[in-house]
Amino acid sequence: MRLILATSNKGKLKEVKEILPEYDIVTMGEMGINEDIEENGTTFEENAYIKAKFIADRLNAVTIADDSGLEVDYLDGAPGIYSARFAGEGASDKDRNEKLLSLLKDVPFEKRTARYVCAIAIVFPDGEKHIFKQTCEGYILDEEVGNGGFGYDPLFYFPEFKTTLANVPLDVKNTVSHRSKALEELKKFLAERKSKEA
Ligand code: IMP
Repeated sequence: MRLILATSNKGKLKEVKEILPEYDIVTMGEMGINEDIEENGTTFEENAYIKAKFIADRLNAVTIADDSGLEVDYLDGAPGIYSARFAGEGASDKDRNEKLLSLLKDVPFEKRTARYVCAIAIVFPDGEKHIFKQTCEGYILDEEVGNGGFGYDPLFYFPEFKTTLANVPLDVKNTVSHRSKALEELKKFLAERKSKEA
């Protein structure tokens, strides 16, 4: 079965292919769509759905899309759906991490609770839709540790690993990450759907 992935992010493509090896995963770019889809929803779920629906309608094909970000409790859930744009357009991971550290200056460790969130939407050409949402819970440190992963990972302390998600190999991060857990849910859904059809 072919699944269109509504992203141009190579890292996400690799992760989706690894978790769903039995599917023919094709990106929207490979299908000739390269435009930016406006993410004007107010939740991760809405934004994932907006992207998947746009491509599913355009290509008349089963499409998946994800939306993810970091919620920090002390900041009332910010940066949330604005995680990628937290320090403005064109800012780097480093800029975003510095901004986060400055907003959490002098906040004690136990109040620095945070979670990564990932919503994955699948939309079928007839309009059928499903959304899978997962989180990964941790704490924001007061300095960067490790140089693996990406984004906020050098600041994201994962208690079970006793270190940050930037300080463990990617395959280890992927056993607990919000995105891989949501993809596993999608995988289970697709397998059950197929067995019902058979
Ligand atoms: P988007 O889902 O591509 O719109 O981007 C979400 C943003 O959230 C990324 O640019 C990162 O800043 C952040 N983010 C999402 N998942 C992760 C993760 O696993 N590690 C670090 N940062 C993440």
